[in-house]
Amino acid sequence: THAEEQHNFSAEVERLMDLVVHALYSEREIFLRELIANSADALDRRRFESLTNQTVALPDKPQIFLTVDKKGNLLTISDDGLGMSKDEMIQNLGTIAKSGTRAFEKQLKDAKPEDRVNLIGQFGVGFYSAFMVADKVEVISRRAGSDEAWAWNSEGKGKYSIASSTRNTPGTDVILHIKKDAEEYLESMRLENIIRKWADHIAWPITIKQDDKETSANEGQAIWTKPRGDISDEQLDEFYRHVTHLFDKPLATLLWHAEGVIEFTSLLFIPGMVSPFAPVDQERKSKVRLHVRRMFITDEADMLPPWLRFIQGIVDTEDLPLNVSREMLQNTPVLARIRKNLVNRVISELKKLSEDKEKYTKFWELFGAVLKEGLWEPNENNDTIAKISRFYSSTVDGLTSLSDYVGRMKENQEAIYFLAGDSLEVLKTSPHLEGFKAQGIEVLLFTDPVDAFWPDRFGKFEEKPLRSITRAKEDLDKLMGKEERSNSEEEEKLLKTLMESLKDKITDARMTTRLVDSPVILAAKEDGPDLQMQRLMRRNDR
Ligand code: ADP
Ligand code: MG
Repeated sequence: THAEEQHNFSAEVERLMDLVVHALYSEREIFLRELIANSADALDRRRFESLTNQTVALPDKPQIFLTVDKKGNLLTISDDGLGMSKDEMIQNLGTIAKSGTRAFEKQLKDAKPEDRVNLIGQFGVGFYSAFMVADKVEVISRRAGSDEAWAWNSEGKGKYSIASSTRNTPGTDVILHIKKDAEEYLESMRLENIIRKWADHIAWPITIKQDDKETSANEGQAIWTKPRGDISDEQLDEFYRHVTHLFDKPLATLLWHAEGVIEFTSLLFIPGMVSPFAPVDQERKSKVRLHVRRMFITDEADMLPPWLRFIQGIVDTEDLPLNVSREMLQNTPVLARIRKNLVNRVISELKKLSEDKEKYTKFWELFGAVLKEGLWEPNENNDTIAKISRFYSSTVDGLTSLSDYVGRMKENQEAIYFLAGDSLEVLKTSPHLEGFKAQGIEVLLFTDPVDAFWPDRFGKFEEKPLRSITRAKEDLDKLMGKEERSNSEEEEKLLKTLMESLKDKITDARMTTRLVDSPVILAAKEDGPDLQMQRLMRRNDR
Protein backbone atom coordinates (compact mmCIF):
# COMPACT_ATOMS: atom_id res chain seq x y z
CA THR A 1 0.00 0.00 0.00
CA HIS A 2 1.04 3.54 -0.65
CA ALA A 3 1.57 5.99 2.12
CA GLU A 4 -0.38 9.19 2.16
CA GLU A 5 1.57 12.06 0.62
CA GLN A 6 1.22 15.58 1.99
CA HIS A 7 1.35 18.58 -0.34
CA ASN A 8 0.97 22.30 0.10
CA PHE A 9 -1.16 24.42 -2.20
CA SER A 10 0.75 27.07 -4.08
CA ALA A 11 0.40 30.49 -2.49
CA GLU A 12 -1.68 31.63 -5.48
CA VAL A 13 -4.15 28.82 -5.00
CA GLU A 14 -4.55 29.53 -1.33
CA ARG A 15 -5.22 33.19 -1.99
CA LEU A 16 -7.69 32.40 -4.76
CA MET A 17 -9.51 29.84 -2.68
CA ASP A 18 -9.97 32.40 0.00
CA LEU A 19 -11.24 34.95 -2.52
CA VAL A 20 -13.66 32.55 -4.18
CA VAL A 21 -15.09 31.31 -0.92
CA HIS A 22 -15.65 34.78 0.49
CA ALA A 23 -16.62 36.81 -2.56
CA LEU A 24 -19.28 34.37 -3.70
CA TYR A 25 -20.83 33.52 -0.43
CA SER A 26 -24.21 34.99 -1.31
CA GLU A 27 -24.36 32.89 -4.48
CA ARG A 28 -22.80 29.77 -3.20
CA GLU A 29 -25.19 27.42 -4.99
CA ILE A 30 -23.05 27.87 -8.09
CA PHE A 31 -20.52 25.38 -6.68
CA LEU A 32 -22.79 22.76 -8.24
CA ARG A 33 -22.66 24.38 -11.65
CA GLU A 34 -18.88 24.42 -11.51
CA LEU A 35 -18.53 20.79 -10.47
CA ILE A 36 -21.07 19.61 -13.04
CA ALA A 37 -19.32 21.66 -15.72
CA ASN A 38 -16.05 19.93 -14.83
CA SER A 39 -17.72 16.54 -15.11
CA ALA A 40 -19.21 17.43 -18.48
CA ASP A 41 -15.79 18.66 -19.69
CA ALA A 42 -14.23 15.38 -18.57
CA LEU A 43 -16.90 13.40 -20.44
CA ASP A 44 -16.34 15.52 -23.56
CA ARG A 45 -12.61 14.93 -23.35
CA ARG A 46 -13.02 11.20 -22.93
CA ARG A 47 -15.34 10.96 -25.91
CA PHE A 48 -12.86 12.93 -27.99
CA GLU A 49 -9.86 10.87 -26.92
CA SER A 50 -11.74 7.63 -27.62
CA LEU A 51 -11.85 8.53 -31.31
CA THR A 52 -8.19 7.71 -31.60
CA ASN A 53 -7.73 5.47 -28.57
CA GLN A 54 -10.09 2.54 -28.06
CA THR A 55 -8.86 1.84 -24.52
CA VAL A 56 -10.63 4.94 -23.21
CA ALA A 57 -14.00 4.19 -24.89
CA LEU A 58 -17.05 5.45 -22.99
CA PRO A 59 -19.39 3.03 -21.19
CA ASP A 60 -22.85 2.32 -22.63
CA LYS A 61 -24.66 5.02 -20.72
CA PRO A 62 -22.17 7.71 -19.79
CA GLN A 63 -23.57 10.14 -17.25
CA ILE A 64 -23.15 12.49 -14.34
CA PHE A 65 -24.47 11.04 -11.12
CA LEU A 66 -25.23 12.91 -7.90
CA THR A 67 -25.63 10.94 -4.68
CA VAL A 68 -27.07 12.48 -1.52
CA ASP A 69 -26.25 10.86 1.82
CA LYS A 70 -28.12 12.94 4.34
CA LYS A 71 -27.06 10.98 7.41
CA GLY A 72 -23.40 11.10 6.47
CA ASN A 73 -23.67 14.77 5.36
CA LEU A 74 -22.22 13.81 2.01
CA LEU A 75 -22.94 15.00 -1.51
CA THR A 76 -21.04 13.13 -4.23
CA ILE A 77 -20.73 14.25 -7.84
CA SER A 78 -19.62 11.31 -10.00
CA ASP A 79 -18.89 11.09 -13.70
CA ASP A 80 -17.75 8.65 -16.36
CA GLY A 81 -15.29 11.20 -17.69
CA LEU A 82 -11.64 10.91 -18.56
CA GLY A 83 -10.52 10.98 -14.92
CA MET A 84 -7.14 12.12 -13.66
CA SER A 85 -3.81 10.42 -13.05
CA LYS A 86 -1.90 11.22 -9.88
CA ASP A 87 0.22 13.83 -11.66
CA GLU A 88 -2.83 15.39 -13.23
CA MET A 89 -4.47 15.69 -9.84
CA ILE A 90 -1.46 17.51 -8.44
CA GLN A 91 -1.30 19.72 -11.48
CA ASN A 92 -5.02 20.46 -11.86
CA LEU A 93 -6.22 20.65 -8.28
CA GLY A 94 -3.15 22.06 -6.55
CA THR A 95 -1.76 24.75 -8.81
CA ILE A 96 -3.18 27.55 -10.90
CA ALA A 97 -2.56 27.49 -14.61
CA LYS A 98 -3.68 30.99 -15.38
CA SER A 99 -1.69 33.79 -13.91
CA GLY A 100 -3.34 37.01 -12.89
CA THR A 101 -4.61 36.55 -9.36
CA ARG A 102 -4.34 40.30 -9.00
CA ALA A 103 -6.51 41.01 -12.03
CA PHE A 104 -9.03 38.51 -10.77
CA GLU A 105 -9.05 40.04 -7.34
CA LYS A 106 -9.68 43.50 -8.75
CA GLN A 107 -12.45 42.30 -11.07
CA LEU A 108 -14.06 40.47 -8.22
CA LYS A 109 -14.02 43.53 -6.04
CA ASP A 110 -15.48 45.79 -8.73
CA ALA A 111 -18.16 43.35 -9.89
CA LYS A 112 -21.72 43.34 -8.63
CA PRO A 113 -22.41 40.28 -6.45
CA GLU A 114 -24.59 38.68 -9.13
CA ASP A 115 -21.80 39.09 -11.70
CA ARG A 116 -19.10 37.58 -9.54
CA VAL A 117 -20.33 34.04 -10.09
CA ASN A 118 -19.34 34.20 -13.75
CA LEU A 119 -15.90 35.55 -13.08
CA ILE A 120 -14.79 32.33 -11.47
CA GLY A 121 -15.69 30.24 -14.49
CA GLN A 122 -13.70 32.62 -16.62
CA PHE A 123 -10.69 32.29 -14.40
CA GLY A 124 -10.56 28.53 -14.21
CA VAL A 125 -10.98 28.34 -10.46
CA GLY A 126 -14.38 26.66 -10.36
CA PHE A 127 -13.27 23.60 -8.47
CA TYR A 128 -12.37 25.61 -5.39
CA SER A 129 -15.94 26.85 -5.06
CA ALA A 130 -16.60 23.41 -3.50
CA PHE A 131 -15.11 24.79 -0.29
CA MET A 132 -17.98 27.25 0.03
CA VAL A 133 -20.28 24.42 1.03
CA ALA A 134 -17.87 21.73 2.22
CA ASP A 135 -15.37 21.71 5.05
CA LYS A 136 -13.67 18.72 3.47
CA VAL A 137 -13.42 17.67 -0.17
CA GLU A 138 -12.35 14.24 -1.41
CA VAL A 139 -11.66 13.50 -5.06
CA ILE A 140 -11.32 9.89 -6.15
CA SER A 141 -10.31 9.52 -9.74
CA ARG A 142 -9.21 6.85 -12.18
CA ARG A 143 -7.78 7.89 -15.52
CA ALA A 144 -9.47 6.10 -18.42
CA GLY A 145 -7.06 3.53 -19.83
CA SER A 146 -5.44 2.93 -16.44
CA ASP A 147 -6.15 0.59 -13.50
CA GLU A 148 -4.82 2.94 -10.84
CA ALA A 149 -7.07 5.17 -8.82
CA TRP A 150 -6.01 8.02 -6.56
CA ALA A 151 -7.66 9.91 -3.75
CA TRP A 152 -7.10 13.61 -3.24
CA ASN A 153 -8.15 15.04 0.12
CA SER A 154 -8.26 18.54 1.51
CA GLU A 155 -9.88 20.73 4.10
CA GLY A 156 -8.87 23.71 2.02
CA LYS A 157 -6.50 25.11 4.62
CA GLY A 158 -3.22 25.35 2.76
CA LYS A 159 -2.60 21.66 2.24
CA TYR A 160 -3.91 18.51 0.62
CA SER A 161 -2.96 14.84 0.62
CA ILE A 162 -2.81 12.22 -2.08
CA ALA A 163 -3.06 8.47 -1.54
CA SER A 164 -3.63 5.37 -3.58
CA SER A 165 -7.28 4.35 -3.84
CA THR A 166 -9.66 2.14 -5.80
CA ARG A 167 -12.47 2.78 -8.25
CA ASN A 168 -14.34 0.13 -10.26
CA THR A 169 -14.54 2.10 -13.49
CA PRO A 170 -12.72 5.10 -14.95
CA GLY A 171 -14.07 8.50 -13.95
CA THR A 172 -14.17 10.82 -10.99
CA ASP A 173 -16.05 11.21 -7.71
CA VAL A 174 -16.02 14.53 -5.94
CA ILE A 175 -17.18 13.89 -2.39
CA LEU A 176 -18.28 16.93 -0.42
CA HIS A 177 -18.50 16.84 3.38
CA ILE A 178 -21.27 19.38 3.58
CA LYS A 179 -20.92 22.18 6.16
CA LYS A 180 -23.46 22.54 8.94
CA ASP A 181 -24.88 25.74 7.46
CA ALA A 182 -25.16 24.27 3.97
CA GLU A 183 -27.51 21.39 4.65
CA GLU A 184 -29.93 22.67 2.01
CA TYR A 185 -27.62 21.02 -0.52
CA LEU A 186 -28.54 17.64 0.89
CA GLU A 187 -32.05 17.84 -0.61
CA SER A 188 -32.51 16.40 -4.08
CA MET A 189 -35.30 18.93 -4.81
CA ARG A 190 -32.96 21.81 -4.11
CA LEU A 191 -30.25 20.27 -6.28
CA GLU A 192 -32.71 19.72 -9.10
CA ASN A 193 -33.69 23.38 -9.02
CA ILE A 194 -30.09 24.52 -9.13
CA ILE A 195 -29.42 22.28 -12.10
CA ARG A 196 -32.45 23.58 -13.94
CA LYS A 197 -31.28 27.12 -13.33
CA TRP A 198 -27.59 26.77 -14.09
CA ALA A 199 -26.86 23.53 -15.88
CA ASP A 200 -29.88 22.71 -17.99
CA HIS A 201 -27.88 22.94 -21.20
CA ILE A 202 -25.37 20.26 -20.18
CA ALA A 203 -25.45 17.71 -22.98
CA TRP A 204 -24.93 14.70 -20.69
CA PRO A 205 -27.69 13.14 -18.58
CA ILE A 206 -27.59 14.11 -14.92
CA THR A 207 -29.23 11.82 -12.35
CA ILE A 208 -29.77 12.51 -8.64
CA LYS A 209 -30.06 9.68 -6.17
CA GLN A 210 -31.40 10.13 -2.64
CA ASP A 211 -32.71 7.31 -0.38
CA ASP A 212 -32.64 4.86 -3.30
CA LYS A 213 -34.84 7.14 -5.36
CA GLU A 214 -33.38 8.28 -8.69
CA THR A 215 -34.49 11.47 -10.45
CA SER A 216 -33.43 12.62 -13.86
CA ALA A 217 -32.40 16.28 -13.54
CA ASN A 218 -31.96 17.32 -17.15
CA GLU A 219 -32.71 16.19 -20.66
CA GLY A 220 -29.09 15.77 -21.60
CA GLN A 221 -29.76 17.19 -25.04
CA ALA A 222 -27.70 19.89 -26.71
CA ILE A 223 -29.84 23.03 -26.75
CA TRP A 224 -29.15 23.88 -30.40
CA THR A 225 -30.57 20.58 -31.61
CA LYS A 226 -34.05 21.62 -30.52
CA PRO A 227 -36.47 23.69 -32.56
CA ARG A 228 -36.50 27.34 -31.46
CA GLY A 229 -40.04 26.95 -30.15
CA ASP A 230 -38.87 24.35 -27.64
CA ILE A 231 -36.13 26.53 -26.17
CA SER A 232 -37.05 29.09 -23.57
CA ASP A 233 -35.41 32.52 -23.51
CA GLU A 234 -33.96 31.65 -20.10
CA GLN A 235 -32.28 28.56 -21.54
CA LEU A 236 -30.79 30.61 -24.35
CA ASP A 237 -29.49 33.25 -21.96
CA GLU A 238 -28.02 30.60 -19.73
CA PHE A 239 -26.29 28.94 -22.66
CA TYR A 240 -24.99 32.35 -23.69
CA ARG A 241 -23.44 32.84 -20.29
CA HIS A 242 -22.02 29.34 -20.45
CA VAL A 243 -20.20 29.79 -23.77
CA THR A 244 -19.14 33.41 -23.31
CA HIS A 245 -18.45 33.49 -19.56
CA LEU A 246 -20.16 36.88 -19.62
CA PHE A 247 -22.78 37.89 -17.11
CA ASP A 248 -25.39 39.83 -19.03
CA LYS A 249 -27.92 39.01 -21.71
CA PRO A 250 -27.00 38.76 -25.40
CA LEU A 251 -27.75 41.77 -27.59
CA ALA A 252 -28.94 39.35 -30.26
CA THR A 253 -29.27 35.58 -30.57
CA LEU A 254 -28.94 33.93 -33.96
CA LEU A 255 -30.10 30.32 -34.29
CA TRP A 256 -30.13 28.69 -37.71
CA HIS A 257 -30.58 25.21 -39.09
CA ALA A 258 -29.07 25.22 -42.58
CA GLU A 259 -30.23 22.43 -44.83
CA GLY A 260 -29.38 21.56 -48.40
CA VAL A 261 -25.93 21.25 -49.93
CA ILE A 262 -24.32 21.56 -46.52
CA GLU A 263 -26.03 20.85 -43.27
CA PHE A 264 -25.21 22.67 -40.12
CA THR A 265 -26.77 24.31 -37.11
CA SER A 266 -25.39 27.45 -35.60
CA LEU A 267 -26.23 29.22 -32.39
CA LEU A 268 -24.42 32.54 -32.31
CA PHE A 269 -24.61 35.51 -30.00
CA ILE A 270 -23.82 39.18 -30.28
CA PRO A 271 -22.74 39.87 -26.69
CA GLY A 272 -24.17 42.73 -24.72
CA MET A 273 -20.79 43.59 -23.23
CA VAL A 274 -17.06 43.31 -23.83
CA SER A 275 -15.35 40.65 -21.76
CA PRO A 276 -13.25 42.20 -18.99
CA PHE A 277 -10.69 39.41 -19.37
CA ALA A 278 -10.40 38.77 -23.06
CA PRO A 279 -10.86 42.07 -24.82
CA VAL A 280 -11.67 41.37 -28.46
CA ASP A 281 -8.42 43.00 -29.52
CA GLN A 282 -6.20 40.65 -27.61
CA GLU A 283 -6.20 37.95 -30.21
CA ARG A 284 -7.54 38.73 -33.64
CA LYS A 285 -9.29 35.39 -34.01
CA SER A 286 -12.81 34.05 -33.94
CA LYS A 287 -13.44 31.71 -31.03
CA VAL A 288 -16.71 30.29 -32.35
CA ARG A 289 -16.74 26.62 -31.41
CA LEU A 290 -16.95 23.88 -33.98
CA HIS A 291 -18.92 20.75 -33.14
CA VAL A 292 -19.32 17.68 -35.31
CA ARG A 293 -22.50 15.78 -34.57
CA ARG A 294 -22.81 17.46 -31.15
CA MET A 295 -19.21 16.73 -30.25
CA PHE A 296 -16.98 19.67 -29.49
CA ILE A 297 -13.97 19.64 -31.82
CA THR A 298 -12.15 22.96 -31.51
CA ASP A 299 -12.58 26.68 -30.99
CA GLU A 300 -9.66 27.42 -33.29
CA ALA A 301 -11.24 26.70 -36.65
CA ASP A 302 -11.59 30.41 -37.55
CA MET A 303 -15.28 29.97 -38.22
CA LEU A 304 -15.68 33.72 -38.71
CA PRO A 305 -13.24 36.34 -40.03
CA PRO A 306 -11.30 38.48 -37.52
CA TRP A 307 -13.61 41.45 -38.05
CA LEU A 308 -16.51 39.35 -36.70
CA ARG A 309 -14.54 37.95 -33.76
CA PHE A 310 -16.89 39.58 -31.24
CA ILE A 311 -19.55 37.03 -32.24
CA GLN A 312 -19.57 33.99 -29.99
CA GLY A 313 -21.31 30.64 -30.01
CA ILE A 314 -21.24 27.26 -31.71
CA VAL A 315 -21.53 25.66 -35.11
CA ASP A 316 -22.50 22.00 -35.36
CA THR A 317 -22.27 20.10 -38.62
CA GLU A 318 -23.09 16.61 -39.88
CA ASP A 319 -20.81 16.97 -42.88
CA LEU A 320 -17.40 16.37 -41.35
CA PRO A 321 -15.94 13.16 -39.93
CA LEU A 322 -15.64 13.05 -36.14
CA ASN A 323 -11.89 12.54 -36.31
CA VAL A 324 -11.37 15.62 -38.44
CA SER A 325 -7.69 16.55 -38.46
CA ARG A 326 -6.09 19.94 -37.98
CA GLU A 327 -4.99 19.97 -41.59
CA MET A 328 -8.47 19.14 -42.75
CA LEU A 329 -9.88 22.00 -40.71
CA GLN A 330 -7.80 24.35 -42.80
CA ASN A 331 -8.43 22.85 -46.21
CA THR A 332 -11.81 21.21 -46.40
CA PRO A 333 -14.27 22.88 -48.79
CA VAL A 334 -17.09 21.94 -46.40
CA LEU A 335 -15.78 24.37 -43.80
CA ALA A 336 -15.09 27.02 -46.41
CA ARG A 337 -18.73 26.83 -47.44
CA ILE A 338 -19.98 26.92 -43.87
CA ARG A 339 -17.80 29.94 -43.13
CA LYS A 340 -19.08 31.82 -46.14
CA ASN A 341 -22.65 30.99 -45.27
CA LEU A 342 -22.12 32.13 -41.66
CA VAL A 343 -20.62 35.47 -42.68
CA ASN A 344 -23.54 36.19 -44.99
CA ARG A 345 -26.06 35.34 -42.33
CA VAL A 346 -24.34 37.38 -39.66
CA ILE A 347 -24.10 40.38 -41.97
CA SER A 348 -27.75 40.21 -42.87
CA GLU A 349 -28.63 39.93 -39.18
CA LEU A 350 -26.55 43.04 -38.50
CA LYS A 351 -28.37 44.83 -41.29
CA LYS A 352 -31.65 43.90 -39.65
CA LEU A 353 -30.34 45.00 -36.25
CA SER A 354 -29.30 48.37 -37.71
CA GLU A 355 -32.98 49.24 -38.16
CA ASP A 356 -33.32 49.34 -34.38
CA LYS A 357 -31.48 52.57 -33.77
CA GLU A 358 -31.11 52.30 -30.01
CA LYS A 359 -29.89 48.70 -30.04
CA TYR A 360 -27.60 49.33 -32.96
CA THR A 361 -25.99 52.32 -31.27
CA LYS A 362 -25.20 50.11 -28.30
CA PHE A 363 -23.84 47.45 -30.64
CA TRP A 364 -21.76 50.02 -32.48
CA GLU A 365 -20.22 51.45 -29.32
CA LEU A 366 -19.19 47.94 -28.27
CA PHE A 367 -17.99 46.38 -31.50
CA GLY A 368 -17.99 49.00 -34.29
CA ALA A 369 -14.23 49.40 -34.11
CA VAL A 370 -13.79 45.68 -34.72
CA LEU A 371 -16.33 45.51 -37.53
CA LYS A 372 -14.58 48.39 -39.30
CA GLU A 373 -11.50 46.20 -39.70
CA GLY A 374 -13.64 44.56 -42.37
CA LEU A 375 -13.43 47.80 -44.35
CA TRP A 376 -9.68 47.63 -44.29
CA GLU A 377 -9.24 43.92 -44.94
CA PRO A 378 -10.11 43.19 -48.58
CA ASN A 379 -13.17 40.93 -48.66
CA GLU A 380 -16.33 40.48 -50.66
CA ASN A 381 -18.48 42.19 -48.05
CA ASN A 382 -16.66 45.54 -48.04
CA ASP A 383 -19.63 47.41 -49.46
CA THR A 384 -22.16 45.90 -47.10
CA ILE A 385 -19.93 46.59 -44.12
CA ALA A 386 -19.66 50.21 -45.24
CA LYS A 387 -23.44 50.40 -45.42
CA ILE A 388 -23.90 49.15 -41.88
CA SER A 389 -21.05 51.23 -40.45
CA ARG A 390 -21.86 54.30 -38.38
CA PHE A 391 -19.90 57.45 -37.66
CA TYR A 392 -20.02 60.65 -35.69
CA SER A 393 -20.20 63.85 -37.66
CA SER A 394 -19.55 67.56 -37.29
CA THR A 395 -23.16 68.51 -38.00
CA VAL A 396 -25.56 65.81 -36.76
CA ASP A 397 -26.20 64.45 -33.29
CA GLY A 398 -25.48 60.80 -32.66
CA LEU A 399 -24.30 58.34 -35.25
CA THR A 400 -24.86 58.58 -38.98
CA SER A 401 -24.41 56.24 -41.94
CA LEU A 402 -22.36 56.95 -45.05
CA SER A 403 -25.50 56.85 -47.20
CA ASP A 404 -27.14 59.52 -45.07
CA TYR A 405 -23.97 61.63 -45.28
CA VAL A 406 -23.95 61.35 -49.07
CA GLY A 407 -27.61 62.41 -49.08
CA ARG A 408 -26.66 65.61 -47.24
CA MET A 409 -23.65 66.49 -49.42
CA LYS A 410 -23.45 69.95 -51.04
CA GLU A 411 -24.24 70.12 -54.71
CA ASN A 412 -20.67 70.51 -55.93
CA GLN A 413 -19.09 68.42 -53.19
CA GLU A 414 -17.10 65.55 -54.67
CA ALA A 415 -15.74 63.71 -51.66
CA ILE A 416 -16.81 62.37 -48.30
CA TYR A 417 -14.76 64.42 -45.83
CA PHE A 418 -13.42 63.07 -42.58
CA LEU A 419 -11.17 64.07 -39.74
CA ALA A 420 -9.49 61.35 -37.71
CA GLY A 421 -8.24 61.74 -34.14
CA ASP A 422 -8.30 60.28 -30.66
CA SER A 423 -11.45 61.72 -29.20
CA LEU A 424 -14.68 63.32 -30.29
CA GLU A 425 -14.18 66.27 -27.94
CA VAL A 426 -10.81 67.17 -29.44
CA LEU A 427 -12.00 66.69 -33.00
CA LYS A 428 -15.04 68.89 -32.55
CA THR A 429 -12.85 71.86 -31.66
CA SER A 430 -10.13 71.16 -34.22
CA PRO A 431 -9.04 74.19 -36.29
CA HIS A 432 -9.12 71.89 -39.33
CA LEU A 433 -12.89 72.03 -39.14
CA GLU A 434 -13.20 75.82 -39.11
CA GLY A 435 -13.47 76.44 -42.82
CA PHE A 436 -15.76 73.48 -43.37
CA LYS A 437 -18.01 74.60 -40.55
CA ALA A 438 -18.15 78.12 -41.88
CA GLN A 439 -19.21 76.83 -45.28
CA GLY A 440 -21.69 74.38 -43.78
CA ILE A 441 -19.92 71.30 -45.08
CA GLU A 442 -20.32 68.17 -43.00
CA VAL A 443 -17.22 66.29 -41.89
CA LEU A 444 -17.25 62.78 -40.41
CA LEU A 445 -15.32 62.45 -37.17
CA PHE A 446 -13.29 59.23 -36.87
CA THR A 447 -12.05 58.26 -33.43
CA ASP A 448 -10.94 54.62 -33.66
CA PRO A 449 -7.32 53.74 -34.49
CA VAL A 450 -8.49 51.65 -37.45
CA ASP A 451 -10.03 54.81 -38.95
CA ALA A 452 -6.58 56.06 -39.84
CA PHE A 453 -6.10 53.05 -42.11
CA TRP A 454 -9.22 51.95 -43.89
CA PRO A 455 -10.28 55.05 -45.88
CA ASP A 456 -7.22 54.94 -48.17
CA ARG A 457 -7.70 51.22 -48.80
CA PHE A 458 -11.41 51.24 -49.16
CA GLY A 459 -11.91 53.13 -52.39
CA LYS A 460 -15.22 54.85 -53.12
CA PHE A 461 -18.57 54.73 -51.41
CA GLU A 462 -21.46 55.38 -53.82
CA GLU A 463 -18.91 56.79 -56.28
CA LYS A 464 -17.55 59.21 -53.70
CA PRO A 465 -13.93 59.00 -52.51
CA LEU A 466 -13.16 59.50 -48.83
CA ARG A 467 -10.81 62.38 -48.13
CA SER A 468 -9.08 63.51 -44.96
CA ILE A 469 -9.43 67.24 -44.39
CA THR A 470 -5.93 67.37 -42.91
CA ARG A 471 -4.48 66.98 -46.39
CA ALA A 472 -3.11 70.40 -47.35
CA LYS A 473 -4.43 70.72 -50.86
CA GLU A 474 -8.02 70.13 -49.95
CA ASP A 475 -9.23 73.42 -51.13
CA LEU A 476 -12.36 74.99 -49.88
CA ASP A 477 -12.15 77.77 -52.42
CA LYS A 478 -12.61 75.34 -55.23
CA LEU A 479 -15.44 73.72 -53.43
CA MET A 480 -17.22 77.00 -52.98
CA GLY A 481 -16.50 78.03 -56.60
CA LYS A 482 -14.24 80.96 -55.67
CA GLU A 483 -11.43 82.26 -57.92
CA GLU A 484 -7.85 81.33 -57.09
CA ARG A 485 -6.07 84.20 -55.36
CA SER A 486 -2.37 85.12 -55.39
CA ASN A 487 -0.37 86.06 -52.30
CA SER A 488 0.54 89.64 -51.42
CA GLU A 489 4.15 90.69 -50.87
CA GLU A 490 3.75 90.57 -47.06
CA GLU A 491 2.27 87.13 -47.26
CA GLU A 492 5.16 85.86 -49.37
CA LYS A 493 7.59 87.34 -46.83
CA LEU A 494 5.81 85.63 -43.95
CA LEU A 495 5.82 82.26 -45.72
CA LYS A 496 9.54 82.61 -46.41
CA THR A 497 10.29 83.40 -42.76
CA LEU A 498 8.24 80.40 -41.63
CA MET A 499 10.01 78.08 -44.07
CA GLU A 500 13.41 79.26 -42.91
CA SER A 501 12.78 78.94 -39.21
CA LEU A 502 10.93 75.56 -39.45
CA LYS A 503 12.89 74.04 -42.29
CA ASP A 504 13.57 70.69 -40.52
CA LYS A 505 9.96 70.32 -39.48
CA ILE A 506 7.75 71.23 -42.44
CA THR A 507 7.95 70.73 -46.21
CA ASP A 508 5.92 73.76 -47.24
CA ALA A 509 4.10 76.84 -45.90
CA ARG A 510 1.01 78.17 -47.68
CA MET A 511 -1.70 80.75 -47.32
CA THR A 512 -5.16 79.34 -46.80
CA THR A 513 -8.77 80.47 -46.69
CA ARG A 514 -9.92 77.50 -44.68
CA LEU A 515 -9.29 79.08 -41.28
CA VAL A 516 -11.77 81.34 -39.55
CA ASP A 517 -10.59 81.89 -35.96
CA SER A 518 -7.17 80.23 -35.84
CA PRO A 519 -4.16 81.99 -37.33
CA VAL A 520 -2.27 78.87 -38.37
CA ILE A 521 -2.78 75.16 -38.86
CA LEU A 522 -0.60 72.10 -39.35
CA ALA A 523 -1.71 70.05 -42.37
CA ALA A 524 -0.60 66.86 -44.10
CA LYS A 525 0.89 66.48 -47.56
CA GLU A 526 -1.59 65.46 -50.22
CA ASP A 527 0.42 62.38 -51.22
CA GLY A 528 1.57 61.44 -47.70
CA PRO A 529 -0.11 59.90 -44.69
CA ASP A 530 -2.89 61.76 -42.99
CA LEU A 531 -2.10 63.50 -39.66
CA GLN A 532 -3.75 60.90 -37.45
CA MET A 533 -1.87 58.17 -39.30
CA GLN A 534 1.38 60.05 -38.64
CA ARG A 535 0.52 60.30 -34.95
CA LEU A 536 -0.19 56.58 -34.74
CA MET A 537 3.04 55.75 -36.57
CA ARG A 538 5.04 57.87 -34.17
CA ARG A 539 3.36 56.12 -31.24
CA ASN A 540 4.27 52.69 -32.60
CA ASP A 541 7.89 53.72 -33.02
CA ARG A 542 8.29 54.26 -29.35
P1 ADP B 1 -11.38 24.79 -15.18
O1 ADP B 1 -12.53 23.85 -15.25
O2 ADP B 1 -11.73 26.15 -15.68
O3 ADP B 1 -10.12 24.26 -15.81
P2 ADP B 1 -11.54 24.15 -12.40
O4 ADP B 1 -10.98 24.76 -11.17
O5 ADP B 1 -13.02 24.02 -12.45
O6 ADP B 1 -11.02 25.00 -13.62
O7 ADP B 1 -10.90 22.72 -12.61
C1 ADP B 1 -9.49 22.57 -12.67
C2 ADP B 1 -9.08 21.34 -13.43
O8 ADP B 1 -9.29 20.16 -12.67
C3 ADP B 1 -9.84 21.06 -14.71
O9 ADP B 1 -9.31 21.79 -15.79
C4 ADP B 1 -9.63 19.57 -14.91
O10 ADP B 1 -8.38 19.31 -15.53
C5 ADP B 1 -9.57 19.06 -13.50
N1 ADP B 1 -10.86 18.47 -13.09
C6 ADP B 1 -11.76 19.04 -12.26
N2 ADP B 1 -12.83 18.25 -12.12
C7 ADP B 1 -12.63 17.15 -12.89
C8 ADP B 1 -13.37 15.96 -13.18
N3 ADP B 1 -14.59 15.73 -12.66
N4 ADP B 1 -12.82 15.04 -14.02
C9 ADP B 1 -11.59 15.25 -14.56
N5 ADP B 1 -10.85 16.36 -14.33
C10 ADP B 1 -11.36 17.29 -13.50
MG1 MG C 1 -14.25 24.17 -14.22
